[in-house]
Amino acid sequence: MRVALANNDEDALRAAGKTLVHSLMHRGDLVRVLVNGNETAPTCYFALRDHATLLDLTPIYEDEPPPLKDPPELETQIVPPGTVQDNLFAPHDYDIHDRVLNAMERAQDLSVTRMAGVGVSGLLQDVVGLLRPTFLGTELHIELFKSADVPDPLPNVDHCPRNERPFWALTRVEGEAVWIPAWSELPPILKQRVAPEDAPGGFAAGVAVPLYPPAEELNPEDQGVISEVGLLYVIQLAPIDRETLVRLAFRISRFVTNGWRQTSLMNRLVHIDNLTGVHNRAFFDEQLVLEIERAQRRSTSLILLLGDIDHFKDVNDRYGHPAGDRVLKSVARELLRGLRRIDLVCRVGGEEFALVLPDTDLEAARDIVTRIQVRIANLRLSDPDASEPLRVTISFGGAGFPGAGDTPDELYRNADRMLYLSKQRGRNRCHFWNPGGDPILTLPRYNASTD
Ligand code: GH3
Ligand code: MG
Ligand code: MG
Repeated sequence: MRVALANNDEDALRAAGKTLVHSLMHRGDLVRVLVNGNETAPTCYFALRDHATLLDLTPIYEDEPPPLKDPPELETQIVPPGTVQDNLFAPHDYDIHDRVLNAMERAQDLSVTRMAGVGVSGLLQDVVGLLRPTFLGTELHIELFKSADVPDPLPNVDHCPRNERPFWALTRVEGEAVWIPAWSELPPILKQRVAPEDAPGGFAAGVAVPLYPPAEELNPEDQGVISEVGLLYVIQLAPIDRETLVRLAFRISRFVTNGWRQTSLMNRLVHIDNLTGVHNRAFFDEQLVLEIERAQRRSTSLILLLGDIDHFKDVNDRYGHPAGDRVLKSVARELLRGLRRIDLVCRVGGEEFALVLPDTDLEAARDIVTRIQVRIANLRLSDPDASEPLRVTISFGGAGFPGAGDTPDELYRNADRMLYLSKQRGRNRCHFWNPGGDPILTLPRYNASTD
Protein backbone atom coordinates (compact mmCIF):
# COMPACT_ATOMS: atom_id res chain seq x y z
CA MET A 1 0.00 0.00 0.00
CA ARG A 2 2.88 2.33 0.90
CA VAL A 3 4.64 1.63 -2.41
CA ALA A 4 1.41 2.22 -4.32
CA LEU A 5 0.88 5.51 -2.49
CA ALA A 6 4.44 6.65 -3.14
CA ASN A 7 4.11 5.91 -6.85
CA ASN A 8 0.60 7.35 -7.02
CA ASP A 9 -0.41 4.09 -8.67
CA GLU A 10 -4.21 4.17 -8.66
CA ASP A 11 -4.75 0.59 -9.83
CA ALA A 12 -2.34 -0.81 -7.28
CA LEU A 13 -3.97 1.30 -4.56
CA ARG A 14 -7.43 0.06 -5.50
CA ALA A 15 -6.20 -3.56 -5.48
CA ALA A 16 -4.48 -3.10 -2.10
CA GLY A 17 -7.60 -1.46 -0.66
CA LYS A 18 -9.73 -4.32 -1.94
CA THR A 19 -7.41 -6.88 -0.34
CA LEU A 20 -7.44 -5.00 2.93
CA VAL A 21 -11.22 -4.69 3.01
CA HIS A 22 -11.61 -8.38 2.11
CA SER A 23 -9.33 -9.48 4.90
CA LEU A 24 -11.11 -7.22 7.39
CA MET A 25 -14.44 -8.74 6.33
CA HIS A 26 -12.92 -12.20 6.51
CA ARG A 27 -11.91 -11.54 10.13
CA GLY A 28 -15.36 -10.18 10.81
CA ASP A 29 -14.03 -6.71 11.63
CA LEU A 30 -15.88 -5.05 8.80
CA VAL A 31 -19.59 -5.52 8.32
CA ARG A 32 -21.46 -4.88 5.11
CA VAL A 33 -24.64 -2.88 5.50
CA LEU A 34 -27.27 -2.92 2.75
CA VAL A 35 -29.20 0.22 3.27
CA ASN A 36 -32.13 -0.60 1.05
CA GLY A 37 -32.33 -4.11 2.31
CA ASN A 38 -31.55 -6.09 -0.84
CA GLU A 39 -28.54 -7.38 -2.65
CA THR A 40 -29.09 -5.47 -5.85
CA ALA A 41 -29.43 -2.10 -4.16
CA PRO A 42 -27.10 0.49 -5.60
CA THR A 43 -25.91 1.68 -2.22
CA CYS A 44 -24.09 -0.34 0.35
CA TYR A 45 -22.06 0.84 3.28
CA PHE A 46 -19.58 -0.78 5.60
CA ALA A 47 -19.32 -0.47 9.32
CA LEU A 48 -16.38 -1.32 11.52
CA ARG A 49 -17.38 -3.78 14.17
CA ASP A 50 -18.43 -1.95 17.34
CA HIS A 51 -18.63 1.36 15.56
CA ALA A 52 -21.76 3.15 14.47
CA THR A 53 -20.08 5.09 11.66
CA LEU A 54 -20.89 3.90 8.15
CA LEU A 55 -18.12 4.03 5.58
CA ASP A 56 -18.83 4.36 1.91
CA LEU A 57 -16.47 1.89 0.26
CA THR A 58 -18.57 1.47 -2.86
CA PRO A 59 -15.82 2.69 -5.22
CA ILE A 60 -13.70 -0.27 -4.20
CA TYR A 61 -16.50 -2.74 -4.84
CA GLU A 62 -18.35 -1.30 -7.74
CA ASP A 63 -16.87 -3.75 -10.24
CA GLU A 64 -16.65 -6.76 -7.99
CA PRO A 65 -19.20 -7.53 -5.27
CA PRO A 66 -17.72 -9.26 -2.23
CA PRO A 67 -18.19 -13.01 -1.87
CA LEU A 68 -21.25 -13.57 0.28
CA LYS A 69 -21.24 -17.28 1.01
CA ASP A 70 -17.55 -17.87 1.23
CA PRO A 71 -15.96 -17.23 3.69
CA PRO A 72 -18.76 -18.27 6.06
CA GLU A 73 -17.70 -15.77 8.76
CA LEU A 74 -18.93 -12.94 6.55
CA GLU A 75 -21.73 -11.11 8.30
CA THR A 76 -24.30 -9.12 6.38
CA GLN A 77 -26.76 -6.90 8.11
CA ILE A 78 -29.98 -6.12 6.36
CA VAL A 79 -31.13 -2.64 7.24
CA PRO A 80 -34.68 -1.77 6.20
CA PRO A 81 -35.42 0.97 3.68
CA GLY A 82 -35.01 4.55 4.80
CA THR A 83 -32.14 6.89 5.35
CA VAL A 84 -29.16 5.88 7.40
CA GLN A 85 -30.14 8.35 10.12
CA ASP A 86 -33.63 6.93 10.38
CA ASN A 87 -32.16 3.51 10.75
CA LEU A 88 -30.38 4.50 13.91
CA PHE A 89 -33.80 4.39 15.50
CA ALA A 90 -35.39 1.59 13.54
CA PRO A 91 -37.16 -0.70 16.01
CA HIS A 92 -35.39 -3.89 14.99
CA ASP A 93 -32.01 -2.28 14.59
CA TYR A 94 -31.08 -2.31 18.24
CA ASP A 95 -27.64 -3.48 17.37
CA ILE A 96 -26.37 -0.19 15.94
CA HIS A 97 -28.35 1.60 18.56
CA ASP A 98 -26.74 -0.39 21.35
CA ARG A 99 -23.31 0.16 19.94
CA VAL A 100 -23.75 3.92 20.09
CA LEU A 101 -25.01 3.71 23.63
CA ASN A 102 -22.33 1.29 24.74
CA ALA A 103 -19.74 3.66 23.38
CA MET A 104 -21.35 6.42 25.44
CA GLU A 105 -21.22 4.33 28.58
CA ARG A 106 -17.56 3.66 27.99
CA ALA A 107 -17.00 7.36 27.43
CA GLN A 108 -18.39 8.15 30.83
CA ASP A 109 -15.36 6.55 32.47
CA LEU A 110 -13.42 9.48 31.12
CA SER A 111 -15.54 11.90 33.07
CA VAL A 112 -13.59 11.03 36.20
CA THR A 113 -10.93 13.33 34.83
CA ARG A 114 -13.43 16.17 34.56
CA MET A 115 -12.35 18.85 36.95
CA ALA A 116 -14.38 19.01 40.07
CA GLY A 117 -16.27 22.18 40.71
CA VAL A 118 -18.10 22.25 37.37
CA GLY A 119 -21.28 21.78 39.33
CA VAL A 120 -24.21 19.52 38.67
CA SER A 121 -25.99 21.69 36.15
CA GLY A 122 -22.72 22.25 34.27
CA LEU A 123 -22.17 18.51 34.10
CA LEU A 124 -25.70 17.79 32.93
CA GLN A 125 -25.53 20.44 30.25
CA ASP A 126 -22.19 19.00 29.09
CA VAL A 127 -23.74 15.58 28.77
CA VAL A 128 -26.65 16.90 26.76
CA GLY A 129 -24.26 18.80 24.53
CA LEU A 130 -22.29 15.61 23.98
CA LEU A 131 -25.31 13.49 23.12
CA ARG A 132 -27.40 15.91 21.13
CA PRO A 133 -25.67 15.51 17.77
CA THR A 134 -25.76 11.72 18.04
CA PHE A 135 -29.52 11.49 18.15
CA LEU A 136 -30.74 13.37 15.16
CA GLY A 137 -34.47 13.81 15.02
CA THR A 138 -34.75 13.90 18.81
CA GLU A 139 -34.33 16.64 21.34
CA LEU A 140 -32.72 16.09 24.69
CA HIS A 141 -33.48 18.25 27.68
CA ILE A 142 -32.27 18.01 31.22
CA GLU A 143 -33.85 19.91 34.06
CA LEU A 144 -32.82 20.17 37.68
CA PHE A 145 -35.46 20.61 40.33
CA LYS A 146 -35.19 21.28 44.05
CA SER A 147 -37.76 19.34 46.00
CA ALA A 148 -39.44 22.62 46.88
CA ASP A 149 -40.02 23.32 43.18
CA VAL A 150 -41.69 20.04 42.34
CA PRO A 151 -44.52 21.07 40.09
CA ASP A 152 -48.05 19.77 40.09
CA PRO A 153 -48.57 16.21 38.97
CA LEU A 154 -48.79 15.65 35.25
CA PRO A 155 -52.20 14.45 34.13
CA ASN A 156 -52.57 11.09 32.43
CA VAL A 157 -48.95 10.05 32.38
CA ASP A 158 -48.48 6.51 31.35
CA HIS A 159 -45.21 5.03 32.43
CA CYS A 160 -43.29 1.86 32.04
CA PRO A 161 -42.58 -0.73 33.27
CA ARG A 162 -45.43 -0.34 35.79
CA ASN A 163 -48.67 1.10 34.56
CA GLU A 164 -50.74 1.69 37.58
CA ARG A 165 -49.34 4.72 39.38
CA PRO A 166 -49.82 7.89 37.39
CA PHE A 167 -47.60 10.00 39.65
CA TRP A 168 -45.54 12.90 38.55
CA ALA A 169 -42.20 11.70 37.24
CA LEU A 170 -40.13 13.02 40.12
CA THR A 171 -41.69 10.62 42.57
CA ARG A 172 -40.41 7.66 40.61
CA VAL A 173 -37.31 5.62 41.20
CA GLU A 174 -34.21 6.38 39.21
CA GLY A 175 -34.36 5.19 35.64
CA GLU A 176 -38.10 4.49 35.59
CA ALA A 177 -39.49 6.09 32.50
CA VAL A 178 -42.63 8.10 31.93
CA TRP A 179 -44.17 8.15 28.49
CA ILE A 180 -45.38 11.59 27.51
CA PRO A 181 -47.83 11.20 24.67
CA ALA A 182 -48.91 14.81 24.24
CA TRP A 183 -47.37 18.27 24.25
CA SER A 184 -50.02 19.39 26.73
CA GLU A 185 -48.49 17.06 29.33
CA LEU A 186 -45.05 18.62 29.24
CA PRO A 187 -44.05 20.71 32.25
CA PRO A 188 -44.38 24.44 31.59
CA ILE A 189 -40.63 24.95 31.33
CA LEU A 190 -40.49 22.57 28.34
CA LYS A 191 -43.62 23.92 26.72
CA GLN A 192 -41.72 27.15 26.25
CA ARG A 193 -39.03 25.37 24.25
CA VAL A 194 -40.85 22.70 22.31
CA ALA A 195 -43.47 23.50 19.70
CA PRO A 196 -46.88 21.76 19.95
CA GLU A 197 -47.86 18.83 17.72
CA ASP A 198 -49.57 20.92 15.06
CA ALA A 199 -46.57 23.23 14.52
CA PRO A 200 -43.99 22.31 11.87
CA GLY A 201 -41.26 20.18 13.48
CA GLY A 202 -43.37 20.05 16.63
CA PHE A 203 -43.59 17.54 19.40
CA ALA A 204 -44.30 13.90 18.49
CA ALA A 205 -43.77 12.04 21.75
CA GLY A 206 -41.46 12.07 24.71
CA VAL A 207 -40.05 10.05 27.53
CA ALA A 208 -38.96 11.45 30.88
CA VAL A 209 -36.59 9.60 33.17
CA PRO A 210 -35.88 10.81 36.71
CA LEU A 211 -32.21 11.11 37.59
CA TYR A 212 -31.55 11.14 41.30
CA PRO A 213 -28.49 12.60 42.95
CA PRO A 214 -26.13 10.17 44.64
CA ALA A 215 -27.45 9.11 48.04
CA GLU A 216 -24.18 10.05 49.71
CA GLU A 217 -24.84 13.67 48.82
CA LEU A 218 -27.79 13.82 51.15
CA ASN A 219 -27.37 14.73 54.80
CA PRO A 220 -28.02 11.77 57.10
CA GLU A 221 -31.06 13.65 58.42
CA ASP A 222 -32.37 14.08 54.90
CA GLN A 223 -32.20 10.41 53.93
CA GLY A 224 -35.31 9.53 52.03
CA VAL A 225 -35.97 13.15 51.17
CA ILE A 226 -35.17 14.21 47.64
CA SER A 227 -33.34 17.49 47.79
CA GLU A 228 -32.37 17.80 44.16
CA VAL A 229 -33.40 15.72 41.18
CA GLY A 230 -32.67 15.86 37.53
CA LEU A 231 -35.17 14.94 34.90
CA LEU A 232 -34.13 13.85 31.44
CA TYR A 233 -36.51 14.30 28.54
CA VAL A 234 -36.07 12.76 25.15
CA ILE A 235 -38.50 14.30 22.74
CA GLN A 236 -39.05 12.88 19.31
CA LEU A 237 -39.90 15.38 16.64
CA ALA A 238 -40.91 12.77 14.08
CA PRO A 239 -43.01 9.66 14.72
CA ILE A 240 -41.07 6.76 16.18
CA ASP A 241 -41.99 3.55 17.90
CA ARG A 242 -42.45 3.81 21.58
CA GLU A 243 -40.25 0.96 22.72
CA THR A 244 -37.22 2.43 20.99
CA LEU A 245 -37.70 5.84 22.52
CA VAL A 246 -38.19 4.46 26.03
CA ARG A 247 -35.16 2.27 25.65
CA LEU A 248 -33.11 5.19 24.43
CA ALA A 249 -34.18 7.38 27.35
CA PHE A 250 -33.42 4.62 29.81
CA ARG A 251 -29.91 4.07 28.48
CA ILE A 252 -29.13 7.76 28.35
CA SER A 253 -30.40 8.18 31.90
CA ARG A 254 -27.96 5.54 33.09
CA PHE A 255 -25.19 7.36 31.34
CA VAL A 256 -26.14 10.69 32.87
CA THR A 257 -26.72 9.34 36.37
CA ASN A 258 -23.38 7.57 36.42
CA GLY A 259 -21.63 10.71 35.23
CA TRP A 260 -23.42 12.69 37.89
CA ARG A 261 -22.36 10.22 40.57
CA GLN A 262 -18.76 10.23 39.50
CA THR A 263 -18.58 13.99 39.42
CA SER A 264 -20.18 14.22 42.84
CA LEU A 265 -17.70 11.73 44.18
CA MET A 266 -14.86 13.76 42.73
CA ASN A 267 -16.32 16.91 44.22
CA ARG A 268 -16.52 15.19 47.54
CA LEU A 269 -12.95 14.02 47.42
CA VAL A 270 -11.71 17.43 46.42
CA HIS A 271 -13.93 19.62 48.57
CA ILE A 272 -14.58 17.76 51.80
CA ASP A 273 -12.37 17.71 54.86
CA ASN A 274 -11.49 14.12 55.70
CA LEU A 275 -11.55 14.37 59.46
CA THR A 276 -14.74 16.34 60.08
CA GLY A 277 -16.78 15.85 56.90
CA VAL A 278 -17.42 19.59 56.50
CA HIS A 279 -16.11 21.51 53.50
CA ASN A 280 -12.43 22.28 53.25
CA ARG A 281 -10.38 25.38 52.60
CA ALA A 282 -10.35 24.92 48.80
CA PHE A 283 -14.12 24.85 48.71
CA PHE A 284 -14.37 27.83 51.02
CA ASP A 285 -12.08 29.90 48.78
CA GLU A 286 -14.23 29.10 45.73
CA GLN A 287 -17.56 29.58 47.42
CA LEU A 288 -16.84 32.82 49.22
CA VAL A 289 -16.21 34.48 45.86
CA LEU A 290 -19.47 33.09 44.46
CA GLU A 291 -21.52 33.98 47.52
CA ILE A 292 -20.28 37.56 47.48
CA GLU A 293 -21.15 37.83 43.79
CA ARG A 294 -24.59 36.43 44.47
CA ALA A 295 -25.20 38.84 47.36
CA GLN A 296 -24.14 41.70 45.09
CA ARG A 297 -26.50 40.60 42.31
CA ARG A 298 -29.45 40.22 44.63
CA SER A 299 -28.61 43.23 46.83
CA THR A 300 -28.63 41.08 49.95
CA SER A 301 -26.11 40.90 52.77
CA LEU A 302 -23.99 38.00 53.93
CA ILE A 303 -21.89 37.36 56.99
CA LEU A 304 -18.51 35.69 57.19
CA LEU A 305 -17.60 34.22 60.57
CA LEU A 306 -14.17 32.86 61.43
CA GLY A 307 -14.02 30.61 64.48
CA ASP A 308 -11.02 29.22 66.34
CA ILE A 309 -11.26 26.74 69.22
CA ASP A 310 -9.85 28.20 72.41
CA HIS A 311 -6.74 26.68 73.99
CA PHE A 312 -6.94 23.71 71.72
CA LYS A 313 -3.29 22.94 72.19
CA ASP A 314 -4.10 22.23 75.85
CA VAL A 315 -6.76 19.73 74.79
CA ASN A 316 -4.19 17.80 72.81
CA ASP A 317 -1.62 18.07 75.56
CA ARG A 318 -3.95 16.87 78.29
CA TYR A 319 -6.17 14.35 76.54
CA GLY A 320 -4.08 13.28 73.60
CA HIS A 321 -4.28 13.93 69.87
CA PRO A 322 -7.03 11.35 69.16
CA ALA A 323 -9.24 13.05 71.75
CA GLY A 324 -8.43 16.37 70.04
CA ASP A 325 -9.60 14.88 66.75
CA ARG A 326 -12.87 13.78 68.33
CA VAL A 327 -13.39 17.30 69.64
CA LEU A 328 -12.86 18.70 66.14
CA LYS A 329 -15.50 16.32 64.77
CA SER A 330 -18.00 17.20 67.48
CA VAL A 331 -17.49 20.92 67.00
CA ALA A 332 -17.94 20.58 63.23
CA ARG A 333 -21.14 18.58 63.71
CA GLU A 334 -22.46 21.17 66.14
CA LEU A 335 -21.72 23.97 63.68
CA LEU A 336 -23.69 22.12 60.99
CA ARG A 337 -26.58 21.49 63.34
CA GLY A 338 -26.73 25.07 64.48
CA LEU A 339 -26.95 26.50 60.97
CA ARG A 340 -29.28 26.40 57.98
CA ARG A 341 -28.68 24.13 55.00
CA ILE A 342 -27.74 27.07 52.81
CA ASP A 343 -25.02 28.15 55.25
CA LEU A 344 -21.53 26.98 54.57
CA VAL A 345 -19.35 25.31 57.20
CA CYS A 346 -15.69 24.90 56.30
CA ARG A 347 -12.63 23.77 58.19
CA VAL A 348 -10.02 26.25 57.03
CA GLY A 349 -7.18 25.34 59.39
CA GLY A 350 -6.27 22.89 62.17
CA GLU A 351 -8.91 24.05 64.67
CA GLU A 352 -10.27 26.94 62.63
CA PHE A 353 -13.62 27.08 60.92
CA ALA A 354 -15.15 29.57 58.49
CA LEU A 355 -18.91 30.00 58.26
CA VAL A 356 -20.59 31.78 55.39
CA LEU A 357 -24.15 32.85 56.09
CA PRO A 358 -25.97 34.11 52.97
CA ASP A 359 -28.99 36.42 53.26
CA THR A 360 -28.04 37.29 56.82
CA ASP A 361 -27.65 40.68 58.45
CA LEU A 362 -25.62 41.66 61.49
CA GLU A 363 -28.54 41.42 63.88
CA ALA A 364 -29.35 37.84 62.88
CA ALA A 365 -25.66 36.90 62.84
CA ARG A 366 -25.25 38.05 66.46
CA ASP A 367 -28.03 35.69 67.53
CA ILE A 368 -26.64 32.84 65.50
CA VAL A 369 -23.12 33.17 66.81
CA THR A 370 -24.11 33.33 70.47
CA ARG A 371 -26.37 30.30 70.01
CA ILE A 372 -23.51 28.36 68.43
CA GLN A 373 -21.12 29.33 71.19
CA VAL A 374 -23.55 28.11 73.83
CA ARG A 375 -24.07 24.82 72.01
CA ILE A 376 -20.34 24.21 71.73
CA ALA A 377 -19.60 25.17 75.32
CA ASN A 378 -22.29 22.72 76.43
CA LEU A 379 -20.99 19.81 74.37
CA ARG A 380 -20.28 16.70 76.43
CA LEU A 381 -16.97 15.68 74.99
CA SER A 382 -15.86 13.11 77.51
CA ASP A 383 -17.29 10.25 79.46
CA PRO A 384 -19.73 11.68 82.07
CA ASP A 385 -17.81 9.79 84.77
CA ALA A 386 -14.47 11.26 83.80
CA SER A 387 -12.86 13.10 86.66
CA GLU A 388 -12.07 16.07 84.47
CA PRO A 389 -14.88 16.84 82.01
CA LEU A 390 -13.53 17.88 78.64
CA ARG A 391 -15.13 21.08 77.45
CA VAL A 392 -14.13 23.61 74.83
CA THR A 393 -15.15 27.10 73.86
CA ILE A 394 -14.72 28.84 70.55
CA SER A 395 -13.92 32.45 69.65
CA PHE A 396 -15.29 34.17 66.57
CA GLY A 397 -14.64 37.17 64.39
CA GLY A 398 -17.30 38.39 61.98
CA ALA A 399 -17.48 40.65 58.96
CA GLY A 400 -20.51 41.49 56.84
CA PHE A 401 -20.88 42.18 53.16
CA PRO A 402 -21.50 44.90 52.15
CA GLY A 403 -19.75 47.16 54.62
CA ALA A 404 -16.80 45.22 55.95
CA GLY A 405 -15.14 44.69 52.57
CA ASP A 406 -15.91 44.51 48.88
CA THR A 407 -13.63 41.60 48.04
CA PRO A 408 -13.31 38.13 49.59
CA ASP A 409 -9.78 38.98 50.78
CA GLU A 410 -10.85 42.17 52.47
CA LEU A 411 -13.79 40.49 54.16
CA TYR A 412 -11.59 37.66 55.35
CA ARG A 413 -8.92 40.02 56.65
CA ASN A 414 -11.43 42.02 58.65
CA ALA A 415 -13.11 38.92 60.09
CA ASP A 416 -9.66 37.62 61.06
CA ARG A 417 -8.83 40.90 62.80
CA MET A 418 -12.04 40.56 64.77
CA LEU A 419 -11.15 36.97 65.72
CA TYR A 420 -7.79 38.16 66.96
CA LEU A 421 -9.55 40.79 69.06
CA SER A 422 -11.86 38.16 70.56
CA LYS A 423 -8.82 36.08 71.55
CA GLN A 424 -7.08 39.10 73.03
CA ARG A 425 -10.10 40.20 75.02
CA GLY A 426 -10.84 36.93 76.77
CA ARG A 427 -11.94 34.26 74.18
CA ASN A 428 -15.38 32.59 73.91
CA ARG A 429 -16.85 35.71 72.33
CA CYS A 430 -17.33 37.32 68.96
CA HIS A 431 -16.45 40.73 67.60
CA PHE A 432 -17.98 42.01 64.39
CA TRP A 433 -16.23 44.49 62.13
CA ASN A 434 -18.06 47.77 62.32
CA PRO A 435 -17.46 50.07 59.37
CA GLY A 436 -18.92 52.99 61.32
CA GLY A 437 -16.99 52.71 64.59
CA ASP A 438 -15.79 50.35 67.32
CA PRO A 439 -16.07 46.59 66.84
CA ILE A 440 -19.38 45.15 68.05
CA LEU A 441 -19.04 42.59 70.81
CA THR A 442 -21.36 39.66 71.40
CA LEU A 443 -21.03 37.23 74.28
CA PRO A 444 -22.69 33.81 74.57
CA ARG A 445 -25.83 33.99 76.65
CA TYR A 446 -25.88 30.93 78.83
CA ASN A 447 -29.43 31.58 79.88
CA ALA A 448 -30.44 31.12 76.26
CA SER A 449 -32.04 27.84 75.24
CA THR A 450 -29.29 25.26 75.12
CA ASP A 451 -31.38 22.60 73.37
P1 GH3 B 1 -5.97 29.88 71.09
O1 GH3 B 1 -7.04 29.93 72.09
O2 GH3 B 1 -5.11 31.08 71.12
O3 GH3 B 1 -6.50 29.58 69.73
O4 GH3 B 1 -5.03 28.68 71.53
P2 GH3 B 1 -4.79 27.32 70.79
O5 GH3 B 1 -4.08 26.41 71.71
O6 GH3 B 1 -6.08 26.81 70.24
O7 GH3 B 1 -3.95 27.80 69.57
P3 GH3 B 1 -2.67 27.23 68.87
O8 GH3 B 1 -2.70 27.80 67.50
O9 GH3 B 1 -1.46 27.49 69.73
O10 GH3 B 1 -2.86 25.67 68.80
C1 GH3 B 1 -3.67 25.04 67.88
C2 GH3 B 1 -3.50 23.57 68.12
O11 GH3 B 1 -4.35 22.83 67.28
C3 GH3 B 1 -2.10 23.11 67.81
C4 GH3 B 1 -2.28 21.83 67.02
O12 GH3 B 1 -1.58 20.77 67.58
C5 GH3 B 1 -3.74 21.56 67.09
N1 GH3 B 1 -4.24 20.94 65.88
C6 GH3 B 1 -4.22 21.42 64.64
N2 GH3 B 1 -4.79 20.53 63.78
C7 GH3 B 1 -5.17 19.46 64.52
C8 GH3 B 1 -5.79 18.22 64.21
O13 GH3 B 1 -6.14 17.92 63.06
N3 GH3 B 1 -6.04 17.37 65.22
C9 GH3 B 1 -5.69 17.68 66.51
N4 GH3 B 1 -5.97 16.79 67.47
N5 GH3 B 1 -5.08 18.83 66.82
C10 GH3 B 1 -4.82 19.72 65.86
MG1 MG C 1 -5.65 28.51 65.58
MG1 MG D 1 -7.15 27.90 68.82
